[in-house]
Formats: sequence, C-alpha cells, structure tokens
Amino acid sequence: MFQIRLCILFVFSCLTTLSAQQPKKLNSSEIYEAIQKLNVLGSVLYIAAHPDDENTRLISYMSNQVKARTAYLSLTRGDGGQNLIGPEIRELLGVIRTQELLAARRVDGGEQRFSRANDFGYSKHPDETLVIWNKDEVLSDVVWTIRNFKPDIIINRFDHRSPGTTHGHHTSSAMLSMEAFDLANDASKYASQLQLTDTWQPKRIFFNTSWWFYGSQEKFEEADKSNMLNFDIGVFYPSKGLSNNEVAAIASSQHLCQGFGRLSQRGTQEEYIEFLKGEPLNGSNNIFEGIDTSWSRVKGGKAVGEILYKVEQNFNFRNPATHLPQLLEAYKLLQNIEDKHWKSVKTKELKTIIEACAGLYLEASANVPYTAPNTTVSLNIEALNRSNATIDLVSYKLSTLNSGTSKNMKMQNNQRLNFDEGITIPNNASYTTPYWLNKKSTLGMYHVDNQDLIGRPETPRAVFVNFNLNIEGTPITFTKPVIYRYSEPDKGELYRPFEIIPEVSASISDKVFIFDNDQQKEIEVTVKAGRDAIEGYVQMAYPNDWSVFPQKQKIEIVNKGDVQKVVFTVIPPKTQSEGLITPMVNINGNFYTDELIEIDYSHIPFQTVLMPSESKVVRLDIEKRGNNIGYIEGAGDVVPESLRQIGYNITIIKPEQISAENLVNFDAVVVGIRAYNILDELKFKQKFLLDYVKEGGNLIVQYNTNRRLKVDDLAPYHLQLSRDRVTDENASVTILNPNHSLLNFPNKITTQDFEGWVQERGLYFPNEWSEEFTPLLSMNDKGESSKEGSLLVAKYGKGNYIYTGLSFFREFPAGVSGAYRLFANLLSAGKEETNKLKN
Ligand SMILES: [Zn+2]
Repeated sequence: MFQIRLCILFVFSCLTTLSAQQPKKLNSSEIYEAIQKLNVLGSVLYIAAHPDDENTRLISYMSNQVKARTAYLSLTRGDGGQNLIGPEIRELLGVIRTQELLAARRVDGGEQRFSRANDFGYSKHPDETLVIWNKDEVLSDVVWTIRNFKPDIIINRFDHRSPGTTHGHHTSSAMLSMEAFDLANDASKYASQLQLTDTWQPKRIFFNTSWWFYGSQEKFEEADKSNMLNFDIGVFYPSKGLSNNEVAAIASSQHLCQGFGRLSQRGTQEEYIEFLKGEPLNGSNNIFEGIDTSWSRVKGGKAVGEILYKVEQNFNFRNPATHLPQLLEAYKLLQNIEDKHWKSVKTKELKTIIEACAGLYLEASANVPYTAPNTTVSLNIEALNRSNATIDLVSYKLSTLNSGTSKNMKMQNNQRLNFDEGITIPNNASYTTPYWLNKKSTLGMYHVDNQDLIGRPETPRAVFVNFNLNIEGTPITFTKPVIYRYSEPDKGELYRPFEIIPEVSASISDKVFIFDNDQQKEIEVTVKAGRDAIEGYVQMAYPNDWSVFPQKQKIEIVNKGDVQKVVFTVIPPKTQSEGLITPMVNINGNFYTDELIEIDYSHIPFQTVLMPSESKVVRLDIEKRGNNIGYIEGAGDVVPESLRQIGYNITIIKPEQISAENLVNFDAVVVGIRAYNILDELKFKQKFLLDYVKEGGNLIVQYNTNRRLKVDDLAPYHLQLSRDRVTDENASVTILNPNHSLLNFPNKITTQDFEGWVQERGLYFPNEWSEEFTPLLSMNDKGESSKEGSLLVAKYGKGNYIYTGLSFFREFPAGVSGAYRLFANLLSAGKEETNKLKN
C-alpha cells in the first residue's frame, strides 16, 4: 500500500504540489483567461452527492470554455469511503476528500460547496438516505447554496427519476436539487436565511446524462435526444496547452485517496445534458439562452463592460501592467453598482487581476507553523510591486489588532518592502480545525450552528493581514492569510497554513483496546505541547466498572511541539463490558481533552484536525481454540491487527509463500477482503489452499466481488457471488441453524452478538451455492427478500471451508464484541472434533 502511495504521488506531485500549497500567482495567459471570465456574467451549479461524483469534463468546460462562474455542490464530504493512500477513515477521510475537491477545482477552475449531510455509507434507496440525513436540513442547505451562489443553470449529475438504480445518496442529490429549484425563490421557505442572503430563481435545470444511464452505448445512440443539449468537451485550450478533457483528467486525478489517478484523454468527445425544467430552450444549444451574460446584465454594468471588453480585445501579453489604468477605472465604476451579488463576485475577480497585472507580491509569513492562544509569534510582512504603476503601501492591519500600522511608503518597481511584526494570538482565538467537526455529529448530519459557515468548504482563516494600497490613486485592500513558508533540501520551498492549536493535546496509541480476559493492559498516552513550558498533569476518564492507575501523572514539556509519553494501567471488569477512556490534561485548572491530528499529503495542503481524544475499551467474554493463524492480506484491512489484540498469533502469508508445507502448521488460514480480486498469484495458489482444507485445515475467505476474480472457482464447491448486501447495520439477523457448531463452539452465538454493529452487516454475499454449503444466518434490508449467503460453511475432505461477506473488517476496528466472538468461532472450526478425539 505504501509503495502504491509513493508512486501515485510521484506521478502527480509535479502537477499539483506547487499549485496545491503555494498561493497562486497568475502568468499572462492566466490573467487573460481571468479577464475573459470577468467579462461573462453567467453561472452554473453542478450538484451531486460525493467528492469524485462530479463530471470534471463538464465542470472544466463550463469554467474554461463557456467562461461561466461554475461550482460543484457535493452534498457530502465523502467520509464513508475507503482510503487507498493512508489510515484516515470517517471524519478524517472527509477532511482529505474536501481538500481533494478543492485541489480538483484549482485545476478545472470551479468553486466548491458542501451541505451538512454526512456520508454515512452505502445506501440502496433515497427513501433510506433521506431519513438518515435530515431531509429538511439538507434541502435547506441546497436552497442556501442556490440563494448564495445564484446559479443561472443547475446541472444534476444523477437522475432524480430512477431511485434504487444507484447509491441512494446519488438519487437524493438530484431529488433535492429538483425541489430546491422550486423553493429558492420562495421567501416563505427557509425564511431565516434571508437575513443573510436573497431569494433566487435559477433559469433552468438539467440532468448530465450519458450512455451509462441507458445501459449501453447502443441504447443511448437510439435514445430520443430532442430534449438534450450536447457539447464537444474535447476542445483544445492553446493558452493552457491542454485539451479540456486533459484538464478534467488532471482534476479528477486529485481524488487520490479513492484511487482516481488516471490517464488523460484528448480529442473530440460529446457530453449531454437533458433539460428537466425551467424556461424551455427554443432549439438552441446555448444553456444561457434568454439570459444576458454580458455586463449589460447589471444596472451600471454597461460602462464597466465597455472598458473591460477593450482590455480583453487588446490584451498585452508582454506587459499586462499597461492595462492597470483601465482596470482601475472599471474597479471604481464597479464599486457603484447596486447589485450586491455581482458587485461582490466581480470585485473579487477584478482585484485578483489587478494584483496580477501589477506583479504584486503580498505575503505575511509566520516564523512557526502553529502556536497556541495567548502566545506571540514573529511575522515577516513582504510587499513588492513589480510594475511601473504608482503604488503606495498606505498601511497594513493584522486581524488580531484593532488598528492598522500606518506606513505611507512608495512601492517602487521591484524594491522589496519588508517588516517584522510580533503578533499575539488572542486568548479567545478559535483553534484551526474543520468547522463541521466542532460539534458532535449524528449518523446522517454534521451539526453547524453558524449559518454563514454552512456550505463553505473550509473554516475561514482566523489570522490574516489586510494590505491597504493606493494604486494609481485608487485605494484597494488585499487580504492575505498568514502562512508558514519554509524549505526542505529535497523538496524546495514549501507552504503550510498557519494554525492555532490548543496549548496541549493528548492522544492514545489505539482507537480500540480489546481485553479478551481480565488481564490488565498498559495504555500509552502522548501529550503534545502547543506552546513552550507546559506544566500540569494528565488523568484518565474511564467507565465505572473499569479501573485505571495511577490516578494522575505529571507533565513537564519544555519546548513547543515536543511530546511526553505516559503509561496508564487499565484493568477490565470480570464480565463483558465496554466504554470509553479519555485522557484529560490539566494545565492550571484548564482541562484539555482533544487530540491533534495532522494530515500531510503532498497533493493537498497540510491539515490539522482537533477531535475528542477517546478510545473504546472492550472486555470480551470470549473463548478461543487454536492460536496459530495464517493471514493472506487482501485490500488493506486491519483484521490481522485486530486478531492480534485478542491474543492470536498471526503470520502474514505472502502469496508466493502459499504452499502445502507452509500451510500445514496453521490452525486456520484467513483470506483478506478482495484478495481474489487483486492477487494474481492466487490463480496458481488456490489449489494449495483447497488441498490444505482437504487435509483437515480451516480456510476462512472474506468478501470478494464477482467482477475480475482471479480464479475460476473460489470454493471447492459451486459458489456464486452476487451484489447482495445488507447495508442497515441494525438489520435483524435470524439464526438459521442454531445447533451448528460454528454458532456454539467455543462461544454460544445469539442475536445479541449482532447488536452494536457499525455501517453495514455485509456485502457481496453469494446468492447461489451447492448443497454442500450450510447457510447459518439470514438477514435483509427493509423491503427486500431475506439473504442467506452472509456466512456459509462446507466440509471438504477433513477440513472446513468458510465463506463470509459479513463486514468483520469494519466491526473489528469499532470494537464490536459479537463480531470478535463469532470470528473466534470461525477460527475454531474443526477443533471441537480434535478435542473429542484427544479425550
Ligand atoms: Zn458517489
């Protein structure tokens, strides 16, 4: 896994590292493109459910060819997915995928929006999705985004008319989009939003269809397209040296944690959108038909346009600064425009262009990457004009201070101005962390109190500097967040966001501790200092029937950034029990209970996340037979570590090590998830695995998908995989064969063992098997027929072959007792007989 990560990152690092972390400075071509875009007053909002759902070909086309202001509203942050590049899952994966979307938008020129919906995992039907999400809240967020972004055109990625054919989140995104289209302009709906924004009616809404929704290319060719528009999204952009579809591929390749690194494509390619509702088009192929997207669209805009269209027509690529007088004239006119929306959008765009034309370099960098409230850091403030324009640095103002620092200095062409400032972070400054993780979320929703934050991709930076300039007589303020700039010998110049962190944070080495008997365990707590000279103590909060000693331990850390490790002894109760332990660091009477998590990948900016520091402790009532387990690793699951936690001796068997001699010593051999989908060698090694069973071994195979299986026969008998899955983690489980030894030895398994499961029951269950197999469990999602393929066992020769699609790989890391007890039984299969024989 690590190697895959390295090579993927290597390929893309040259494309993305610089743009991902260094504040963007536009070159002449980019300034020209920005001016073209400045002169288009039209906007498109693309709506889907997850990071990576978005069609970057169309987003890039709208942004770079049509020159519309384009945004992607992803209802979720993709927390429910898997992570191919690192250990982060759930909320932390959502943080990575948020940043990957922002990285994609930096490539394709779009903007990014979100709702508060939480990606809770696979959902078969929008009916289920819209119950687990708070439908009204998500709808209100879509309305909020429409009212703020004010799109002329909405394009749905998914079809609202075909529930059940794709992920329930997908269909829901389209259904909510259709509803919001009708509500956004109704002042009686979500009226409280209107204190911060206005109503808005988008002109029309489309569905971004393709052959995929028709089942095949042939069927799509035959389909009636009278209600569709199409675009050649393979257009070439000479200013970029890239085709639109190449830009799109680079953008979607930012979704590295989802394994989206891909080859680019070139050449003509049609993309279709189907008209759904709004003002009909009269046979034209212009999505903006009937909308004036010129400067005349806004009152007072015509005069602005007269200036800016000329700049576009006569653009001076050699010296863009020659356009500054006209740009400043347009800027002044723009400030008098009544339309608040367009004034704000276009002022922002125009300021970026003015800054780039003047070759301005404005930066505030801290001497450290992070600090705690109530501490002081040094800032280097740099201001540079790289043009002949007459520019004064009137003053600058730190966001932490009430008043600015007056300078009134001429910024002579290419003469650097540098200032050192001490900056004290206020005591009440909020920590740098994703705003949607500040409050406890539910399964379906993030909780955000501040309406103004909803929809934003990131928490706005708390520490910034306003540079108040006077450019050719026009006062303009540029705002720059404080950054940390540094270099590494093997990487060059690097940027990180400057962050405010607590004075201490604490973390526990593992998220789950399993106690398979009443033996105590030593648990290590790492305390990290967010400032110099930390003194205090750490104690542990724990469940009533558990004990922890010592009561508290002293902490003394001299330097900011250093850590101190302390060890607590945790003693479980005698009987089955579970709960949470939390380290609490007491500094001068203030308790700190958060963990500081750092996420560092080269394709996205460095992220710090504060989360409650807690680990689950589980005292299992569990019996085991056999100790020596061989494990053939599949697609990155943590099952081996989990089994080690309950005392098994796990040996990882590499595919090339699979042989009769090597297998014979194991009490059981477990095959990791999707191993038969990803390990080519299993084609040749399957014989040894099945022979091992025949000779008395115990083989446990976890889920595989039926596409791209590397073997013809997974099992010694007929076994047909399907897409059957049970996504409701609370779906009731019927024990089909209560007397079967797998459900009785050595642990008596009852329906209680299926309580407290997370995310799902299981997936890709077989739906056909030969009579040698005994199905042990039955379960189903609401409204579906019962599925009996989740756990199948067959005698083969002297041994046992077990196939299971139950999601042990999800339950173990969550410390689900019943999953451990059941798996211990699977590992003990066949041991009952040997015991009897021995006796
Ligand atoms: Zn999706």
